[in-house]
Amino acid sequence: MSTKRRAVGVVAAVAIGAAVLIVQPTLNASAQSTANGEQAAPARGVYKILGATTKQQYQQINDTVDDVLSHHGRRTTSAPGVEFDVVATPQQASALRSQGLTLNLTGDWDAMLAERSKGKKAGDFPPDDAKYHNYKEMTDEINKAQSDHADIAKVSSIGKSHEGRDIPVIKISDNVAQDEDEPEVVFGCNIHAREHLTAEMCLRIAARYTDGYASDATIKDMVDNREIYIIPMQNPDGIEYDIASGQYRGWRKNREGQGTDLNRNFNFKWGCCGGSSGSPSSETYRGPSAASAPETKAIQGFVDSRVVNGKQQIKTHIDFHTYSELVLWPFGWTYDDVTEGMTAEEAKRFQDFGRQMAQTNGYTPEQSSDLYITDGTTDDYYWGVHKVFSFTFEMYPSGGGGIDGFYPPDERIEPETARNDKAVDMIVAEAGK
Ligand SMILES: [Zn+2]
Repeated sequence: MSTKRRAVGVVAAVAIGAAVLIVQPTLNASAQSTANGEQAAPARGVYKILGATTKQQYQQINDTVDDVLSHHGRRTTSAPGVEFDVVATPQQASALRSQGLTLNLTGDWDAMLAERSKGKKAGDFPPDDAKYHNYKEMTDEINKAQSDHADIAKVSSIGKSHEGRDIPVIKISDNVAQDEDEPEVVFGCNIHAREHLTAEMCLRIAARYTDGYASDATIKDMVDNREIYIIPMQNPDGIEYDIASGQYRGWRKNREGQGTDLNRNFNFKWGCCGGSSGSPSSETYRGPSAASAPETKAIQGFVDSRVVNGKQQIKTHIDFHTYSELVLWPFGWTYDDVTEGMTAEEAKRFQDFGRQMAQTNGYTPEQSSDLYITDGTTDDYYWGVHKVFSFTFEMYPSGGGGIDGFYPPDERIEPETARNDKAVDMIVAEAGK
């Protein structure tokens, strides 16, 4: 795992005159609360929470902390339970400990951001990680795919962000200028700003399905018989804001007011079920009303526009996030697998296909709500409103990364996006079934 490479503050060596004093901060939670006291914890600490085994605990963790970074392990009712990586204030950490949970401090969020940003210049990724695309580089890349493959690739915009940036989509199909009667597939990336690895995922899909057309019979068959839409940056303002200064910000939301969590803003069961926050400062703020954010409106408007003669043309969809290495399917708004809008047969299709995809990438497959409730999300919207067979992938790493989870070294781009090639091909094929 890359996480060790940037580990911060585990052992600090301080030279005082001729003597070298080794200071080892106490990272053990119980020792910290007794020996150091809560005031020793950073304002925004990164913690690993161990031992959560009940739905109530999962929900309580999600409701208490500022930011859930990842979770891994399967839902279980016995030890060791599920591990969560979270960002929490000392007060929040204390509140969870008083509920019997074990919290181990693994880092200082702000110090980790500074460490990970070394050498970073305003508006771009650090030189060591220059393979990541900023917004302009992303648009250049898909425009080049279009000019290199004008017969099968076409770039347009699904709408504008709050700050007026286009949200580009690249369509890949034979006779690409026409709207043919072929099953459609959508890939969405980077709806959460700091999840930069996901834009690289979408760019890889675009490259494979254009560059591979001439040489790969399977890809040619899919391009000839599907209409594939790829939206590499669904939250361009947030992405640019995250890299705008000399230091990463760890930014998740869009840039309207204090920011709306676009993946809680969709117009299906919006704010229904305790799976989002009504507080504008929260990382999971759902916005003042359903689809209030221009980016959400653009995505929904695009999906709505694919209803032709009363029939939704989009059949399958994956939205990519980081991190936790999960394959997730609807619904998130309820713990039930079979419910209003989800028959037993439909639930089984999600479970079976989700598990098959997970066998190809080694992720953990589960229903979105298996850990905690979320509402107003992308995949619930695609399925709930449009009956699109829709998944959310949480990419590398599986956990334990703290800030590195969002900013893996660019050496990880190739292996971690290639890891999803098979699942991508499966969901493209599945659109025709
Ligand atoms: Zn995300």
